[in-house]
Amino acid sequence: KTVTADEIRKSVEENDVRFLRLSFTDINGTSKAVEVPKSQLDKVLANDIKFDGSSIDGFVRLEESDMVLYPDFSTWAVLPWTDERGGKIGRLVCSVHKTDGTPFEGDPRNNLKRVLKEMEEMGFTDFDIGFEAEFHLFKLSESGNWTTEVPDHASYFDMTSDDEGARCRRDIVETLESIGFEVEAAHHEVGDGQQEIDFRFDDALTTADRVQTFKMVVREIARKHGLFATFMAKPVEGQAGNGMHTNMSLFKGKKNAFYSPDNEYHLSDTALYFLNGILEHARAITAIGNPTVNSYKRLIPGFEAPVYISWASKNRSPLVRIPFAEEVNTRLEMRSADPTANPYLLLAACLTAGLQGIKEQKKPMDPIDSNVFEMSEAERRERGIKPLPSTLHNAIKAFKEDKLIQSAIGEHLTQSFIDSKELEWSQYTQSVSDWERDRYMGY
Ligand code: GLU
Ligand code: MG
Ligand code: MG
Repeated sequence: KTVTADEIRKSVEENDVRFLRLSFTDINGTSKAVEVPKSQLDKVLANDIKFDGSSIDGFVRLEESDMVLYPDFSTWAVLPWTDERGGKIGRLVCSVHKTDGTPFEGDPRNNLKRVLKEMEEMGFTDFDIGFEAEFHLFKLSESGNWTTEVPDHASYFDMTSDDEGARCRRDIVETLESIGFEVEAAHHEVGDGQQEIDFRFDDALTTADRVQTFKMVVREIARKHGLFATFMAKPVEGQAGNGMHTNMSLFKGKKNAFYSPDNEYHLSDTALYFLNGILEHARAITAIGNPTVNSYKRLIPGFEAPVYISWASKNRSPLVRIPFAEEVNTRLEMRSADPTANPYLLLAACLTAGLQGIKEQKKPMDPIDSNVFEMSEAERRERGIKPLPSTLHNAIKAFKEDKLIQSAIGEHLTQSFIDSKELEWSQYTQSVSDWERDRYMGY
């Protein structure tokens, strides 16, 4: 849907909007924002709000420190909460441009738009994405900090629970709906305090923008309920982690290019080639989809998270699953990514890998409909099933060896990403944990 400048002006008046929040995303996937009072509305709408980019992670380049925000009018939303004085905040998602007006290549959102153009050049009109972002709700301490105490002890799809966790989840769902989300499912997940809320699939850019808004809403509403929301991949050892299953399909107009009635999985050749591209570049994609030290503590056997590179239609252990679906919903579900991923970078990487697969026209390995975890290592080797990287360090190595996935996020973001992740890894290797003291103090 398109929104005009005049419609935004009208909405500002009608809703008593007093502040305008211009948001964008840094390389780590963190939402950043410049907030200006209503008096600046004309400048906002004329792409005339500048900010200093040198303090934003991944933007750092002195010669480019002056940045300009280009709001995407279609993302206009009046946030469903008021500030202390009763005024409302209007939010616009922005692309970051240089002072000469050209898109800044260090902006992950611009990069995704660039990759989407490549897709259009290949004759597809939409890369449709449905995310399933899981998260945990923990109690806040009296001083307002997070704890690891959970507000409930319900479990998967438990509907009898009428605790603070369930009340908070319902509040989140209604808040999301009030700003235009179509929430299709919301339920308690397997872990203590773990929740999932799914909103309807849409084109990649819209969905990436929405997941950023989604996280903001979840965090904000959780606080209102005295809870702390985290999207960290594995907040509690021995319990289910938080995934962000990524459901993907390519469209040509109204036609789902992944669907074919002839194939037993209802997948077209296009879908199978795309799938092969994902599998072949899975290790480098993991660096982007699972970008924290902690992400790799989720990718272990026993918690419905993938560990090996394979695909299947029936079971939940592989990297890519083919959910049973109607024609329009025919899709590939990549199960590796977690919600700490930058959604713009993740989708750029997946799309580039998939499109490369379509260009190469190679069919993927056979599907594995038995449990990959129960196979012996020799059997996995025989079937050509490789593991996902086991640490952030190994994932960065895979990323540094994969020129295609680097090209998916472009030179500027590739360099910032490697710098930022190598620093993170080196800080981690220097830390000494409780586990180590418990284990080695007596040596
Ligand atoms: N929480 C699981 C994970 O870490 C996914 C559970 C599910 O299938 O929804 O990926
Ligand atoms: Mg789930
Ligand atoms: Mg799923």
